[in-house]
Amino acid sequence: MPPRVLTVAGSDSGGGAGIQADLKTMLALGVHGMSVVTAVTAQNSLGVQGAWELPVEAVRAQYRSVVDDIGVQAVKTGMLASAELVEAVAGLISATDAPAVVDPVGVSKHGDPLLAASALESVRTELLPVATVATPNLDEVAQLTGVRVESEAQLRQAAEAVLAYGPRWVVIKGGHLAGEAVDLLTDGSEEHWLRAPRHDNRHTHGTGCTLASAIASHLALGHTVPEAVRAAKEYVTGAIAAGFALGGGIGPVDHGW
Ligand code: PLP
Repeated sequence: MPPRVLTVAGSDSGGGAGIQADLKTMLALGVHGMSVVTAVTAQNSLGVQGAWELPVEAVRAQYRSVVDDIGVQAVKTGMLASAELVEAVAGLISATDAPAVVDPVGVSKHGDPLLAASALESVRTELLPVATVATPNLDEVAQLTGVRVESEAQLRQAAEAVLAYGPRWVVIKGGHLAGEAVDLLTDGSEEHWLRAPRHDNRHTHGTGCTLASAIASHLALGHTVPEAVRAAKEYVTGAIAAGFALGGGIGPVDHGW
């Protein structure tokens, strides 16, 4: 039986991010991908035209169906939309015996909100504490902790601020800084600096979803957190290099590289 990985996230109708990016990543990495849909977005390369969250009961029922029968070796969370969904998903994860990769999705690259402002406190106090690995980008770090990172030297301070909420590990994604794409993975004692050359490619839709799903997939395959994050960074770097134009805006990363 292949390792099974569950994504709890929003649907991107354009197929570039969200559930669709997660399942493509899982297929590419050789695990069985499963999905709990939290919200449906009408979305394309130009942005998010509409978003509708599912009732908490629909999310709970999907999760229970999957976990009670099929079982999971890792869970990944993405867009959770509201405080109610964040709290429900945090409760479900804490009752599941599998590592959880939490991508604390706040706003899309186009600036469309994917999480209600009223849900931030639930992310801090309920979701981050149940994360094995949290993967915030610099905007999400600022939203969650108030720490604003403008240089590589400040990544450690950002990591400490996120770790204070209780995730076992954090990956601070420094991809929005100028220069090399550098991320810091730490549990507060070990530090791993992950570097990749910057690809001059604007078609990066789905990058964050892809990284978090690749980490979850590698954890399910039996790798340690540092091994899983290193392998996931390599995967997403390849996918960004191969990102392609689609529609009139920002195209997706490519999972067939
Ligand atoms: N849409 C959904 C459903 C998502 O989950 C995400 C990110 O997590 C996005 C859109 C945003 O993707 P990006 O910021 O890579 O364009």
